[in-house]
Amino acid sequence: MIVFVRVLLVEDDQPIADSLRRGLVRYGYEVVWVRTGAEALAAGPADMVLLDLGLPDVDGLDVCRELRARGDVPIIVISARADEVDRVVGLEIGADDYVSKPFGVREVIARMRAVLRRVQPAAKPAEPESLSGGRLVIDRRARRVHVDGADAELALSPKEYDLLAFLADAPGAALTREQIMEAVWDANWFGPTKTLDVHIGALRRKLGDAAVVETVRGVGFRLVAGG
Ligand code: CA
Repeated sequence: MIVFVRVLLVEDDQPIADSLRRGLVRYGYEVVWVRTGAEALAAGPADMVLLDLGLPDVDGLDVCRELRARGDVPIIVISARADEVDRVVGLEIGADDYVSKPFGVREVIARMRAVLRRVQPAAKPAEPESLSGGRLVIDRRARRVHVDGADAELALSPKEYDLLAFLADAPGAALTREQIMEAVWDANWFGPTKTLDVHIGALRRKLGDAAVVETVRGVGFRLVAGG
């Protein structure tokens, strides 16, 4: 099931906006990016607003107040101000959550999902998804993976699960090491990626022949159906 969530990203800092936008798009969100409060207030309807407080034209808190006066779109404030007052005021004037810079894309997405769950309580629970001709079943709600029927649950570590879940977001697609590191190990990863190979190795052993994690030379990995 694919649900397009339209996110209005209000952020004047280009590197932060770029990184966030790339991350959100990779997770299937549709992103409209604006740099100023005026543009934010002029933008079309969104399902979710990510709002930086330090904007070039107006205070982000005023934008938050105005958006809240217009309707009940979920708003997550993102700010470099680690100031407790901002946090409290932001939540008091109607923001649904608050993220401090620096943050990882995964942290933002986790908060967005939590906020969306709160505001859409009637949304139907995600069905376990079936891959690899049905041999591999991933139940994202329960974080369980089954191979060849309900009894054979794979014993995966949390990171192995995250890795498989991320690869399974785009079966057959080549994902770069950087994309995987950023998504599964969070934040902006510039260090060695040996830990990724270790986890790929473990995942391959545990998946057996149900699904194959292929190496894409010079790029990264892709998940394909097994034999
Ligand atoms: Ca800013």
